[in-house]
Amino acid sequence: MKKLAEALGVPTLFFRKFLQTQARCPHCSIPNPGFEQWWVSHGLVERGTPGPRHKWGVYFCTACGGGILAKGKAGDADEKAGIIELIPAPKSVHEDVPEPARTFLRQAMETLHAPDAAAVMAGASVDAMLKTLTYEKGSVYERIEKAVAEHKLTEGMGAWAHEVRLGSNRPRHADKENPHVSEAEAKQSVEFAEALAYFLFILTKRIERGKLAAEEASNPRDTGPEDAVQPRTSEGFL
Ligand SMILES: [Zn+2]
Repeated sequence: MKKLAEALGVPTLFFRKFLQTQARCPHCSIPNPGFEQWWVSHGLVERGTPGPRHKWGVYFCTACGGGILAKGKAGDADEKAGIIELIPAPKSVHEDVPEPARTFLRQAMETLHAPDAAAVMAGASVDAMLKTLTYEKGSVYERIEKAVAEHKLTEGMGAWAHEVRLGSNRPRHADKENPHVSEAEAKQSVEFAEALAYFLFILTKRIERGKLAAEEASNPRDTGPEDAVQPRTSEGFL
């Protein structure tokens, strides 16, 4: 749930009678959903423990009627306070997920109303992730097995990946007995693909950035031997 707050950083949404977001509705996946305000707290909501207080609001998607909660910026009691988080967060794929896995995953999210299509796209996304990890040879089955054997995926994640693979195979091969994927199965496939993307790419990048930031903070001046021999340039004014 923190993802959106981080992505937003500075609020780009504000408490209004009507909200329009760029990402898709978390309930119906419609693009650029509109949300109508149903209720909003009068000022900051009280709390019994020390800590930041927030304004809260309830909104409903104009397409599907699905409800979301909007959380205001800490301490901002203004009528048009900034919004730092929407719960559940509108659907989007994090930019740290490499292409083409990202596009496949986005398409899987966008086609949840057509479960067969969503399951196939989720499968393509997982396969693309494995290829990005340089597992390119053999069948999808073999790629998953190899990634598990080499500890790129845990056993549990390997089992998820196989679930997604099987769900994607049924409509693709027009399975005679069971050609279609249910809405719940498609949703699960997309969630597995999202979780894999999170673990394999988003989390890894986040840890890398965290390490870099920690190194810079503990060693602000030591920028390496190359820098030491180069004359320092002034910041300059533009
Ligand atoms: Zn909706």
